[in-house]
Amino acid sequence: MTPTSLNFTHQPDRCSWIESAGQSSTDFPLQNLPFGVFLTAEDPTPRIGVAIGDQILDLLALAQLDLLPAAARTACRQTSLNELLAAGPAVWTDLRARLSELLGADTCAEPLRTQIQRCLVPQNSATLLLPAAIGDYTDFYASIFHATNAGKLFRPDQPLLPNYKWVPIGYHGRSSSITVSGAPVRRPAGQSKSPAAPAPVFGPCRQLDYELELGALVGPGNPPGTPVPLASAPGHLFGVVLLNDWSARDLQAWEYQPLGPFLAKNFATTISPWVVTMEALAPFRVPAFVRPAGDPAPLPYLTDDADAAHGGLDLTLEVWLHTEKMQAAGAAPHRLSSGSFASMYWTLAQMLAHHTSNGCNLRPGDLLGSGTVSGPTPDSRGCLLELTSRGTEPLRLPNGEERRFLEDGDEVILRGYAERSGTRRIGLGVCRGRVLPAG
Ligand code: CA
Repeated sequence: MTPTSLNFTHQPDRCSWIESAGQSSTDFPLQNLPFGVFLTAEDPTPRIGVAIGDQILDLLALAQLDLLPAAARTACRQTSLNELLAAGPAVWTDLRARLSELLGADTCAEPLRTQIQRCLVPQNSATLLLPAAIGDYTDFYASIFHATNAGKLFRPDQPLLPNYKWVPIGYHGRSSSITVSGAPVRRPAGQSKSPAAPAPVFGPCRQLDYELELGALVGPGNPPGTPVPLASAPGHLFGVVLLNDWSARDLQAWEYQPLGPFLAKNFATTISPWVVTMEALAPFRVPAFVRPAGDPAPLPYLTDDADAAHGGLDLTLEVWLHTEKMQAAGAAPHRLSSGSFASMYWTLAQMLAHHTSNGCNLRPGDLLGSGTVSGPTPDSRGCLLELTSRGTEPLRLPNGEERRFLEDGDEVILRGYAERSGTRRIGLGVCRGRVLPAG
């Protein structure tokens, strides 16, 4: 099994007997089957579910009916995905195949359908929780376009530091403040200092920003002192979510040297609730980013033929803004940018291999953020810092409002999807968060 292995679960012409899964607009057709954790008012026990159309298939209920593969049964009865993440690719593949059979119009007939129907919960009656207990969170910086644009604004004389093309740069983020889509985000306070001022001030952040990222959930971990070679890295990656790395730019500018981001980044990180598996993304694999002539080749431990051939992901990622005024007027959100994950300088597998290359142990449920996903064009810049040149060139919104950075009441909505001819389009759902005034 490789990251590009296709099987019957990917066949674009298969459909579910659940009608909403057949709508062309759904992010969750039969070919997707993303995992999450949810509860309902009637049953407040957190449990694992799989999104299908506008429904959730309750895996706890399914396990009680003895309809799951034996190797996945215990993991599917837990209140988080961690045990399933630890189980590894063979178990994931068997489970996906079984779920695809049970939900497929061509593979599941009565009386089984009626039994499964009783395990369905409408998504609009469920509360989605964080999908896993995230022990550690690392945020990378894998878009060379973002690194160059952001670098120019903080260090005009040296935008891209000399290590960038050699090292997948990252920093250790904070897992305690990771929340699931829908949770509001309080504007942080902190120290900032304008260049002309003699001393910093402490107060509410005035340059609040979002960062459009992809997050990857780690599957099986590695023992301390045992690096994961790049060729084995795909077996340690379970799936992806949308990730908003909320950022306080004024705090960041003052604090980031010499040790990197700290309070500018650790007050909130929002992720989408549905984890789209790497297996579901197999039809959307593309070659790793092709480095321009003159760029160094990665060192041997970051080089692998298979990763170069299909380590990239052709995923479109978008940012939408819904200001308080738009919300009040009943206006639709406005799209601020659209980019592709295929433009990232480093692959997810390279990030994981590099992370463990010193012997650092990852654990099931650890989260790897990709870094802001920005492409080469102005409309693919994944944060306001880049879109407004650090607030100096405000954006004009369709209703006449202007934005340099986020204002109170603004809701930021991330979306993602994969679409390719000869495949069924799948989506990542949404990752949303609204800015509350400083406390
Ligand atoms: Ca980031």
